[in-house]
Amino acid sequence: QDTRALVESRLAVIPDFPEPGVLFRDLTPVFADGEAFHALAGALTAPFAGRFDVLAGVEARGFLLAAAASVAAGVGVLPIRKAGKLPRAVLTEAYALEYGTAALEVHEGELPPGTRVLVVDDVLATGGTVGAAARLVERAGWKVAGVSVAIELDGLGGRAALPDTFETYSLLQY
Ligand code: 5GP
Repeated sequence: QDTRALVESRLAVIPDFPEPGVLFRDLTPVFADGEAFHALAGALTAPFAGRFDVLAGVEARGFLLAAAASVAAGVGVLPIRKAGKLPRAVLTEAYALEYGTAALEVHEGELPPGTRVLVVDDVLATGGTVGAAARLVERAGWKVAGVSVAIELDGLGGRAALPDTFETYSLLQY
C-alpha cells in the first residue's frame, strides 16, 4: 500500500509521447529516488517469494528493476536483450510492435534446465514484450515462475494475451 503510493507519487505522466495520443508513464523519477526505487524492486519479487531462482530483466528498463531486486533476493539476473547484442548462440523470439516487429534474445544454455525464472519489466501494455520473454524462457528449457511489472496498462489486453500457465503481477494499474 505504502509502496504503491510512494511509487505513484514519483511517477511522471507525459501526454503525447512518443507520439500524439499516447499517455507515457515515465519511471525515471522513481529510479532516481532511492526509497521509491528500492521499495518498487522489493514489491516486484514479494508475491513470488520462494518460487523463483533467477530474475530475467527485459532490456532496458527491466534490467534496472531486475538488477535492483536481485540484490535483496540474493539471486542472479538473466538479461533478455534486443536482437543482435548477445555474442554467443541465442534463441530469438519476434513480437509485434504498433508498426512492424521486434525481437528479443537470450543465450541458450545460460541457465540449467528447469531453472525457475521470474520475468521483470517496467510496463505491461499489449503484452507483446513480456510474452516474447516468457516464450524464450520456455524454449530455453527453463520454467516461467511468473511475470512482474511496475505498471499494467489495462485496456490494452496485455494480461489476456499472456498464457494463464503463470501468474502475472503488477504494482500499479491504469
Ligand atoms: P507491450 O509489448 O506490452 O505492448 O509494451 C510494453 C513495452 O513498451 C515495455 O517494455 C515498455 O518499456 C514499453 N512501454 C509501453 N508503454 C509505456 C509507457 O507508458 N511507459 C513506459 N515507460 N514504457 C512503455
